Amino acid sequence: MTVDFAAKKALFHLPDGVIYLDGNSLGPMVKTAPARIAQAMAEWQDLLIRGWNKAGWMAQPAALGDRVAKLIGAAPGTVVLGDTLSIKVYQALASALEMNPKRRVILSDTGNFPSDLYMAEGLCRTLCGQYRLKTVAPEEVMSAIDDTVAVTLITEVDYRTGRRHDMTDITKRAHEMGVLTVWDLAHSAGALPVDLAGAGADFAVGCTYKYLNSGPGGPAFIYVAPRHAETARPALSGWLGHAEPFAFDLSYRPGQGIERMRVGTPAVLQMAALDAALDAWDGVDLAEVHRQSLRLQDQFIKGVETRAPTLQLATPRSHLMRGSQVSFRHPEGYAIMQALIAEGVIGDFRAPDILRFGFTPLYIDEDDVARAVGILAKIMDYGSWDKPEFKQRARVT
Ligand SMILES: *Cc1c(COP(=O)(O)O)cnc(C)c1O
Repeated sequence: MTVDFAAKKALFHLPDGVIYLDGNSLGPMVKTAPARIAQAMAEWQDLLIRGWNKAGWMAQPAALGDRVAKLIGAAPGTVVLGDTLSIKVYQALASALEMNPKRRVILSDTGNFPSDLYMAEGLCRTLCGQYRLKTVAPEEVMSAIDDTVAVTLITEVDYRTGRRHDMTDITKRAHEMGVLTVWDLAHSAGALPVDLAGAGADFAVGCTYKYLNSGPGGPAFIYVAPRHAETARPALSGWLGHAEPFAFDLSYRPGQGIERMRVGTPAVLQMAALDAALDAWDGVDLAEVHRQSLRLQDQFIKGVETRAPTLQLATPRSHLMRGSQVSFRHPEGYAIMQALIAEGVIGDFRAPDILRFGFTPLYIDEDDVARAVGILAKIMDYGSWDKPEFKQRARVT
């Protein structure tokens, strides 16, 4: 089945005059989200605490997990929603380390998102310094996987450059070396085809407010391979991951399978937004979404390299090594991005010099790309980025 991208675009609310190339950071709102949240609000209003049972709020993290599972090549019952991605990184990593007790090294790469590295550092400290986080250049991950490594903590698509790791190859190498894998799908889920089961991944985590459009602060997800589901022991052992939360036992017993990875009370309103957003993915073939994204990316790269040649491409040219974003370097990247945003082309900036543009075909088309290139070329030709107001750094870049 082919995706009708124009029909998909109509499902999203995009403000007039905005070309939104930042869905890789915060996805836009589906038009049905406000009504779905209003419905959850009405449940709260009328059912009060009865909503946990009557409106199915307590079952929502697993029900949504099954919907997300379809998008990442995971079987039903292997994914659960909740908390934020940083928390889920910790949860997966701690479990994986415990399952490989003779080894002391966590392997990650310098292209990983800092929060993943910070969580790993914090975990090493909690484990009394017995563990060590080793980070290598993204190109060196494969060769750094040896028999000292307990767990790899790798984000499939680099948040800065858009460079994509080969999940299948790395997982295979890891397993040959007796290493467990934690995959971060923050820039993969909803952007490209992911086959967790096929790749044999051990653990995976990701967020839903980027490509899955659940809104700011939307819940994260965690996947545990079925073969580990009954042995993985969560370090963040909250009551909702307990086998019987409402038995109120004094000590923790892990819940069944993926349920044990839950921590605390789910964010019901935010889950309602995610549920609405996931409707847009019904019947969508992610291979086709990714192919269309690559077409849009190629159009953008060609346009920028022709018309704004002082920008340097930071993203690999090979389609096999790309996610759903394109990044360019420029020493004045921050000011250039602010000038673009002032003209309605919204991307973002990542220190020290990266301008980042996401190409999400469900709501971005060729016409948007052509217009974005034109506006960027104009800003570079006239140097209109060179103004004090564009150099004032905001809290969020
Ligand atoms: C966006 C992102 C995060 C953010 O974590 P939160 O806890 O949701 O704020 C973490 N890791 C990666 C790889 C990301 O891209």
